[in-house]
Amino acid sequence: MNQKIAQLLKENNLDALLVSGAANMRYFGGFTGEGYVVFTKKGQYVLTDSRYTVAAEEESPDFTVIEVHKPYPEELAVLFAEGDKVGFESEKTLFADYAKNRDGIPGIEFIPIEGELDVLRRIKEQWEIDRIAKAEEIGDLAFNEVLGFLKPGLTELQVAAFLEYQMKNFGAEDLSFNTIAAAGLNSAKPHAVPGEYRLKEGDFLTMDYGALYKGYHSDMTRTVVIGKASEEQKKIYNIVLEAQLAGVDALRAGLRGCDVDAISRGIITKAGYGDNFGHGLGHCVGLEIHESPRLSPKDETILLPNMVITVEPGIYIKGFGGVRIEDTLVVKENGSVNLAHSPKELIEIG
Ligand code: ZN
Ligand code: ZN
Repeated sequence: MNQKIAQLLKENNLDALLVSGAANMRYFGGFTGEGYVVFTKKGQYVLTDSRYTVAAEEESPDFTVIEVHKPYPEELAVLFAEGDKVGFESEKTLFADYAKNRDGIPGIEFIPIEGELDVLRRIKEQWEIDRIAKAEEIGDLAFNEVLGFLKPGLTELQVAAFLEYQMKNFGAEDLSFNTIAAAGLNSAKPHAVPGEYRLKEGDFLTMDYGALYKGYHSDMTRTVVIGKASEEQKKIYNIVLEAQLAGVDALRAGLRGCDVDAISRGIITKAGYGDNFGHGLGHCVGLEIHESPRLSPKDETILLPNMVITVEPGIYIKGFGGVRIEDTLVVKENGSVNLAHSPKELIEIG
């Protein structure tokens, strides 16, 4: 059995573990389909339906693959013994599924383990960092291409489609998340959905996007100006840039997430835009796009070497527009390694 899993069972006094979160099934079981990965004292199993059994046998050679038909309780029941304490991912399990198992397998105690499996994925191994770095490189390549493509008249959707095409062209197996391409007043919305708005001279354009490479996510944001930037745009942009650079500079093991957030946030607040930066400074990435810990005012988790985390301050002004700049970095003992290499000084298109 995976050592981390064995440790988790021991520490929580569990007899078995029911893994249902996609990232955790992949990380701890190699399995990428739908179903459950189950660890018991007797063995380790992948329970899935006929759509995934062949893939499961390839992906999880050290696991017994059991073909099941929904609902699962009867098939799950045979893996457990009367009185077993079975840990389950309470944060990633639908209540309906939990209730079905609880009622369908009497004599078993289901114990919530919340996000404990996620915590075991926080520190990345070198092969994981290599995959994230490759995904980030794909993002950089796409950014370089989009700079030659942008012009007034394009819709946000066309910008997003171009970035997505380029990422796949450079080897992305999928998108990290739905691409954000937000221009003009839409750039004041941190999570704007691209639409039919057409770029025009004087617009901010924020592009937040990422590639998926062998299961691992990248995440980057760049904001450019279509045509000439106004003095006000330059001012806002440079405050965000200063905050971003300060956050990147400060990032290192031993600090808490809230410490790094405070450094970038302090610059934005001091410039008078504290109320225009409503989200946290960053989040970890890996098999999921948003992992813990976070760089946020509330997260007191101490950062450790080889966590991979974003630094993404922004200023969003309703009726004016917004700026966000985001890199993904590897936390190190005395600093960090930036996996994003696209330029960050203000780019004026055309
Ligand atoms: Zn992002
Ligand atoms: Zn992000």
